[in-house]
Amino acid sequence: MSIATHLSAIRRNLPPTVELVAVSKYHPEADLREAYAQGQRDFGENIAQELHRKAQNLPPDIRWHFIGHLQTNKVRLIAPHVSLIHSVDSIHLLQAINNSALNLGKTQDCLLQIHIAREQTKFGLTPSDCLSLLDGSEWRNLTSVRIRGLMCIATNTSDTEQLTAEFNQMQTLFNTIQTRHFPSTSSFNLRSWGMSDDYPLAIECGSNMVRIGTAIFGPRPRQ
Ligand SMILES: *Cc1c(COP(=O)(O)O)cnc(C)c1O
Repeated sequence: MSIATHLSAIRRNLPPTVELVAVSKYHPEADLREAYAQGQRDFGENIAQELHRKAQNLPPDIRWHFIGHLQTNKVRLIAPHVSLIHSVDSIHLLQAINNSALNLGKTQDCLLQIHIAREQTKFGLTPSDCLSLLDGSEWRNLTSVRIRGLMCIATNTSDTEQLTAEFNQMQTLFNTIQTRHFPSTSSFNLRSWGMSDDYPLAIECGSNMVRIGTAIFGPRPRQ
């Protein structure tokens, strides 16, 4: 089956309130063009150099999402192109993003990545570190970044009870933060959870932004 077929099958099953980020990391630009021709405009990449290259070669109305671990020294490379950074996991990184955005005269939308999975290897803030960061005042002075919501990568498992517990924990954390830190900010409204194997469940548990790669583009050429 083609990329177009996969994409339209997924779109048909998504509620209209859920945004689809097509995760195109490692896939050639021709694959992105094929999805673009079907009207897809949101694409996710996890390597700064790759996002930079693809953004230069592909149509300018694409909204690029950075979904990988971001080092502060790579922020400048993606800053001109990126629409939403999903993977903020420290105040230090948020400050670097703010500096780049300030230089470019833009406001950079970001999500805080939460470490919710059982695996030790996943990046992200623990829920309590996230609350401490937001309880602090530093982020409030970073006026060129806008925190739009939360992101997580759930445990890589087929155990739906485990996955449900993790997504529900995310929704609870989101609600807590919305009430406590963004009571009058309607732009804190993005819940980025759900990938190829778990997105239907993620949506049942409150996701409104899914990041789907394999189910659209097939297996990645290399990792
Ligand atoms: C690769 C990746 C995805 C997409 O994973 P699939 O299983 O291919 O859908 C989603 N989110 C992040 C953060 C990723 O790195």
